[in-house]
Amino acid sequence: MSRVDLHIHTTASDGVLTPAEVVQVAVERCLSAVAITDHDTTGGIDQALVAAEGTQLEVIPGVELSAEQGSREMHILGYYVDHQDGALQEKLVVLRRARRERAWKMVRKLAGMGMRVSWDRVMEIAGDTSAFGRPHIAVALREGGHVDSINEAFYKYIGRLGPAYVARYKLSPAQALQMIKDAGGLPVLAHPRRQEDIVAGLAGLGLAGLEAYYPRYSAVESEALAMLAERHGLIATGGTDYHGYDGDAGLAVGDVPVPMESVERLRALGDRHVAGRSQHAGGSD
Ligand SMILES: [Zn+2]
Ligand SMILES: [Zn+2]
Repeated sequence: MSRVDLHIHTTASDGVLTPAEVVQVAVERCLSAVAITDHDTTGGIDQALVAAEGTQLEVIPGVELSAEQGSREMHILGYYVDHQDGALQEKLVVLRRARRERAWKMVRKLAGMGMRVSWDRVMEIAGDTSAFGRPHIAVALREGGHVDSINEAFYKYIGRLGPAYVARYKLSPAQALQMIKDAGGLPVLAHPRRQEDIVAGLAGLGLAGLEAYYPRYSAVESEALAMLAERHGLIATGGTDYHGYDGDAGLAVGDVPVPMESVERLRALGDRHVAGRSQHAGGSD
C-alpha cells in the first residue's frame, strides 16, 4: 500500500530534519508522496526536490500560513504552490519580517521589566528559521537564568496572557486563501478539529480541502471530518505535522494513514504536478 504524508516541517521553519533528511526518511519508509509545508517559507522545497530526484517519491511544494478571524487562529496549508512565484515570495518576506518585529518588541518589553536578553543571541538561537519567535526568546531567557524552563518563560512572561506578550500580525482567512491561489496553489484548512463551524465560510472563499487525518484524531473524528469535507465538495487530506520534537512521542514521517486518493484528487485539481523524479530544481529561494 502506498502511503503519503502531506504535512511536514523542516529546518527551513521549525522542524528538526533538513528537507533532504525528510526525503531520505520518506524514501526509506516507502512513501509515495510528501508535502513540505513550512511556516511562511518555501525555502526547503528545492532541496527536497533535488534529494528526491531518481526516487519514486513525489515532493509536493507546500507552505503553511497562519490566519486570524476575530480571536481565532487557523492554519491554512497551500499545496502545489509555484514556489518560484515572485509575488508569493514577496508576501512571505513580509510575514517573516513581521515575526521578527514582533519578537523584537517582546525583547524590549522584557528589558523594560528588568530581564535583559541579547537580541543578537535570540537571532543566533533562531538561526535560519522562518518561524522566528517566542520559542527562541524562551531559550534566551533560560540561558540568562531568568527562568528555569521554556514552559516557565511562556506562562510567566511571553504566553498569551503574559506581561511581555505582543500580538502577532496575521492574515485574514480570505487573504491567506488568496495568497495561495494567486501562486497557483490549493488551500487546505490544517488540523480543523473544533473549527468545523468555519469550514462552510472558507469553502465559499475557495478552500480546496480539509485535513481530516491528523495525529491524535480518532478514527471517528477523522471520519466525521472526511464527511464534512465531502458535504462541502472539499478534498479530505492528512499528514503528521511532523516537526521532529521530542514531544512528538515517536511519531515519524508517514505515521498517519492518509488515503492515496487525497493526492490524486489534489493533483487533478491543481494546474501543476511537480514530480520529484522528473523536475530539476534550479536555484534557491
Ligand atoms: Zn499548523
Ligand atoms: Zn504544521
